[in-house]
Amino acid sequence: MSDDTIARRETAMRLQPHRRAVLAGLGTALAWPIVARAATGPVTRKVGAFDVTIVSDGTLNVPLSFSLPETPPADVAALFRAHGLPESGSPSQTNAVLISSGRERILIDAGSGPGFQPTAGKLQDNLEAAGIAPDSITKVVFTHCHADHLWGVIDDFGDAERFPNATYVIGAAEWDFWIHPETAARVPDALKGMALATRRILKTIEKKVERRRDGDRLAPAVSYLATPGHTPGHMAVLIEDGGQRILVGGDVLTHTAISFARPDWRIGADLDRDQGIATRKRLLDLLAQDRIPLIGFHIAWPGLGVVERQGTGYRFSPL
Ligand SMILES: [Zn+2]
Repeated sequence: MSDDTIARRETAMRLQPHRRAVLAGLGTALAWPIVARAATGPVTRKVGAFDVTIVSDGTLNVPLSFSLPETPPADVAALFRAHGLPESGSPSQTNAVLISSGRERILIDAGSGPGFQPTAGKLQDNLEAAGIAPDSITKVVFTHCHADHLWGVIDDFGDAERFPNATYVIGAAEWDFWIHPETAARVPDALKGMALATRRILKTIEKKVERRRDGDRLAPAVSYLATPGHTPGHMAVLIEDGGQRILVGGDVLTHTAISFARPDWRIGADLDRDQGIATRKRLLDLLAQDRIPLIGFHIAWPGLGVVERQGTGYRFSPL
């Protein structure tokens, strides 16, 4: 073991009490005893000259009382029954995306890393199992800075980059929100620990972060689409080449049934719930109108499908 490794382990041990305290807070909000469904191996589709590969970070267990705090449980149960889903809910998938072309490898969202929930933090292992070395990733693009999308960028010692040769892209408004020293005091109690840890991680990677805005091109064939509400600077990512498109939707549309049938339901994890609804409706309309395939981070594995109008709402049709 090198001196550097020993030093990092000692640093990690010093960080442990704080990290545990942070995670204990989240555990209270997110703990839900349910058996996780395993995703299969990576799924790849072509968008023009680009390979778009969906790789799982595992699953998350989120109680319905957290997801839909304002919706009567009987209404949720009825919706799930109508879609043939268990009334108690299902684990939430975490579908990260890798865009490959030549030597460029762009990862969209980095997963949660170890320690957030035991069923998640599998992205690095799943990438390596698919023959994709973490040091071959050239850029990591974030839809937003919640733990399940950002924290996996740092290793389990809390100080080293998991994708050491990558630069990072974050929405400018998203950066401004989470880096602000007062944010932890302003967010709901269940998110205070997350806000503190997120700010610490952003400080760790700050020198390599590019802050981008709505419509900005992030790389050939890859651009940002502002989709605020879930977080203030949330961004969807449009992949477009050779007349083909896929939209990586982050956390605008998070559930295979709810997000499409009832986009008007107020979502507990949206920091601005009214703006979340408006953005969800706008994105659903765009995806249905233009027949743009969607990859949803939390939608049933692998989260790839098209949006179709159905009655007064929409439905998700897997591809
Ligand atoms: Zn998420």
